[in-house]
Amino acid sequence: MQDQFSLKGKVALVTGGTYGIGIAMAQALGKAGATITFNARSEDKVREAELKCRALGLDAYGYVCDVTIEAEVRSMVSDISQKYGDIDILVNNAGIIKRIPALEMSVEDFNEVINVDLTGPFIVSKAVAPGMIRKGGGKIINICSMMSELGRETVTAYAAAKGGLKMLTKNLACEWAEYNIQVNGIGPGYIATPQTAPLREVGHPFNDFIMAKTPAARWGTPEDLEGPTVFLASKASDFINGHILYVDGGILAYI
Ligand code: NDP
Repeated sequence: MQDQFSLKGKVALVTGGTYGIGIAMAQALGKAGATITFNARSEDKVREAELKCRALGLDAYGYVCDVTIEAEVRSMVSDISQKYGDIDILVNNAGIIKRIPALEMSVEDFNEVINVDLTGPFIVSKAVAPGMIRKGGGKIINICSMMSELGRETVTAYAAAKGGLKMLTKNLACEWAEYNIQVNGIGPGYIATPQTAPLREVGHPFNDFIMAKTPAARWGTPEDLEGPTVFLASKASDFINGHILYVDGGILAYI
């Protein structure tokens, strides 16, 4: 049974893997046996994350690369293929959010969110897929959101991007099934990371909302996403394709 979840010999790429959810996922894949590679824009954070992973005894290599710039992504993927082998597991995690009411949001801000959260996963998936095809298969995990399903105020661009990412997941799953590539998503509930730090203060109305509406009555942690990530990256999920697994403490069932 344990073999089903082993990622020994696999090469993984986690985008936005320097802190928050991304580094937890990268470390989980590493602990399951994979060689881990990751990227982000800040060089300092990339080097810091490499050290954190290596301190745990993990094989980890960081890249400074912006997922919205196709040439940078292609060069990173080609370097990973040459040095560590073609990528078996891709986690499209890099993402940003801008909380701005729609009437006040500029088209530039809207497009920036769409570029990072939706176009980025398309660019990286397209760059990685040929290597997966060469290897006879692969796993792509797109980090979606509750906002892939729900509407709310001030997150119009984010929800449009994450709803789009859900449909990108389903479409690539259909198109690349013939290459034995499974494309699934994880929809985290509300997770304690730098992205959500401003919302988590005691007395903040959003914090009160989460406590009231999450049956688990707590914020999630990046560690809550480790098991689901390893599962969707492993052989155990070979017949699961085009699905979003919500890891949300029950909030979607309750809302
Ligand atoms: P963080 O803001 O904590 O981390 C985001 C990561 O992405 C960082 O490593 C950041 O590094 C990187 N990143 C951002 N933009 C780019 C870019 N253009 N190219 C490459 N890397 C980039 O986010 P979280 O850990 O909270 O979230 C991770 C993912 O999970 C996101 O997709 C988010 O939307 C999603 N999510 C988060 C939830 C939460 O409650 N936290 C809930 C649901 C979904 P750098 O800035 O140096 O590039």
